[in-house]
Formats: sequence, C-alpha cells, structure tokens
Amino acid sequence: MLLLKDKVALITGATGGIGEAIAKTFRDMGATVVITGRNESKLKELGDGFIAIAADVSKPGEADRLIKETIEKAGKIDILINNAGITKDTLLMRMTDEQFDDVINTNLRATFQLCRAAIIPMMKAKYGRIINMSSIIGAIGGPGQANYAASKGAIVAMTKSIAAEVASRNITANCIAPGFIKTPMTDVLPEELKEAYLKQIPAGRFGEPSDIANACLFLASDVSSYITGQVLHVNGGMGRF
Ligand code: NAD
Repeated sequence: MLLLKDKVALITGATGGIGEAIAKTFRDMGATVVITGRNESKLKELGDGFIAIAADVSKPGEADRLIKETIEKAGKIDILINNAGITKDTLLMRMTDEQFDDVINTNLRATFQLCRAAIIPMMKAKYGRIINMSSIIGAIGGPGQANYAASKGAIVAMTKSIAAEVASRNITANCIAPGFIKTPMTDVLPEELKEAYLKQIPAGRFGEPSDIANACLFLASDVSSYITGQVLHVNGGMGRF
C-alpha cells in the first residue's frame, strides 16, 4: 500500500543522512518529493524521481521562496519536513554569540519560517502534515550543546503551539526526536564518546536513518490523523519519556 500516494512533500536538509532516507522512503511510498539543501550538485546525486530546489534555509526570504516554488513545481504542499539542522558544539564558557545564533537560526528560526509559509496553503487546502526534527538533546540537554539543546527544545514547544492553532483544519504538527543516528552529523564525534553513547542504548545499536524515515512516514500518512502536538522519540530506548 502506497501510504503517500498523490501527496506532495517538501524535505529540508535532504542531502544529509536522515533527510536522504526520508526523501527516498517518501518517493517509494508514492509521494512527489521536493528535496532541498544548500548544495545543488549533492541534490542531483540523490538520483531521479525528485524535484530539487537549492536553498540555504538560514537566509532571509528562503522559506517563502521554497514554499512558493514547491507549489509552482509540484502543484501543492501536503507535507513539510523540517529536517535541516546543524551543531556547533562547545562548552558554554567558550560559546560565542555567533555559534549560538547560527544554530538557532538554522534549526529554530528556519523551522518557524517554513511552518509559517506553509500554513496558509495548508489551511486553504484543509490538509497538512508538519514534522519538525527535534532531538533527544532537546529533552535532556547535553554538555557542549547549550545552543543545539535550546534550538531543539524550542522546536518542541513551537510545534505544540502550531498544532493547537491548526488542528481544526485537518493539519497535524508533530516532532520526531532522534536519539543517536549514524549520519555525517554523528560520524565526526570522537570514538570514545560514541562508545559512551552506545552503552546508554538498551537496543544495543545506533539508529539508522531509515529508523527515522519510517517514523516520519507514520506521522506524514493518514494513519496518524488523530496524532498532533506530540513528540515521537526514536532512540532504541536511550531515553524513556
Ligand atoms: P546531516 O548533517 O547528515 O544532515 C543535515 C542536513 O541539513 C544536511 O543536508 C545539511 O546540508 C542541511 N543543512 C544544514 N544547514 C542548512 C541550511 N542552512 N540550509 C539548508 N540545509 C541545511 O545530519 P543528520 O544527522 O541527517 O540530521 C538531520 C536532522 O536530524 C537535524 O535536524 C539533526 O539535528 C537531527 N538529529 C540528528 C541526530 C543524529 O544522531 N544524527 C540526532 C538527533 C537529531
């Protein structure tokens, strides 16, 4: 059963580990998938079957342009996945205003701007699925991650507010909070830190991007239409909330 047949999905950060898995899962489930990322040639590498729009979501005006071009090229927007995200980890005493602002702008402000731009066409269509990528760090914090934790915790609070505003219009807004997933974002961590994380995961393995893509598929499809304002933690039991 093609769970996303006739749906149009916009996925940010589609050139990253999790974004690519979501894009391919959604395409295979029948959706028209609009992929976006900063790097045009990397977008092309994802292969056929996608509509690619290069954009840097941290830049002013890009969110509005992305939603406008999605509708021009794909006809509508049913599903918005705010997946683009960055880390700039360092201890609080060394964290610069720039490191704080960069992470907040990319992770939180861009998510806000894309939700705002997508909500009018979704309200007109009386249909929408918004999925914002949070993190286990947004729930429990982490050393060296004051900026990242703040952005991911705020995404949860913002998404709950959006959900309450638009639930009556048949629009759901939820978060996914991944634990430790094997992607370029986590590849760069020191081996001893990875081993320490692994010990905290009852499932005994790191997550795969497909684990997150499958959770997104559930929240993006019609089988989850009565679920809104929630956070789905996907972490192998690392945190039980
Ligand atoms: P990744 O680094 O592989 O991918 C992130 C993607 O976001 C990349 O394609 C990058 O180019 C894109 N991006 C970053 N800044 C951008 C900008 N300004 N404009 C457009 N695109 C931009 O990381 P990932 O692990 O695939 O992470 C995806 C999401 O999942 C992020 O929001 C991340 O915070 C979240 N997350 C990841 C993990 C994990 O363990 N990997 C855990 C919790 C949450």
